[in-house]
Amino acid sequence: ALELEDLVMHFGPVRAVDGVSLTIPRGRVTALVGESGSGKSTVGRCVVRLEKPTAGLVRIAGTDVTHLSRRQLRRHRSDVSIVFQDPAGSLDPRMLVGEIVAEPLRLSGRRLSRRDREARIATELGKVGLRAEVARRYPHELSGGQRQRVSIARALISEPQLLIADEPTSALDVSVQASVLNLLADLQRDIGFACLFITHDLSAVEYLADDIAVMYLGQLVEKGSREQIFTRPAHPYTQALLAAAP
Ligand code: ATP
Ligand code: MG
Repeated sequence: ALELEDLVMHFGPVRAVDGVSLTIPRGRVTALVGESGSGKSTVGRCVVRLEKPTAGLVRIAGTDVTHLSRRQLRRHRSDVSIVFQDPAGSLDPRMLVGEIVAEPLRLSGRRLSRRDREARIATELGKVGLRAEVARRYPHELSGGQRQRVSIARALISEPQLLIADEPTSALDVSVQASVLNLLADLQRDIGFACLFITHDLSAVEYLADDIAVMYLGQLVEKGSREQIFTRPAHPYTQALLAAAP
């Protein structure tokens, strides 16, 4: 599970995140929606500790990760993974796909024989619908959808308790978006990780999310089940968002 308690992240005068409390139990998907600049990605970045929060608590599987040192953090790195919007930007172009997928294992210090490592990479690629030979290619030799599958494989190889997906499909072609969403839904059901799914795409929310949390100007203005938010949105921003949807 992921628990946020009064999370605050200020960048100088900018109150990017201003007191967000949220719980995502294991096995559930919470969609985090809100207008551009409302602080969604900053929440995700605080959870994976790409940012150190100004205040508040981030608890992952019961452990408060906000006050861990770099060294202690390493032990928890495999508990949470993140997938970004633009797979081209988040995959190192100089690394082979196999190295990219296996990188979290290397970083966590797990030692595997070459044979076991290759088998593991092939298994992970298989889970995201890619053939094992893709491991010997470079990211630029793949399509955008294939690259996003590679970044999902990398995110899942460490068997995280929690997956942060920050607009994982918005850089993709519409037809490819659907296949990546399907993939995430299948994996989530099979593996049962908690998922914070950051998105602008209401049809994706409808398809994937159990719960919805709505951010506005750094604050969480509304949260509830998908059903509840879709049928009885309380905050004016949520009402406008749903009214604008096709
Ligand atoms: P979008 O939907 O466009 O991705 P978002 O909800 O993800 O938006 P954030 O990226 O979290 O929004 O940004 C929230 C606010 O924090 C914005 O005003 C942004 O300019 C500011 N911000 C984010 N990161 C930094 C940073 N490293 N330094 C300074 N300000 C930042
Ligand atoms: Mg963002």
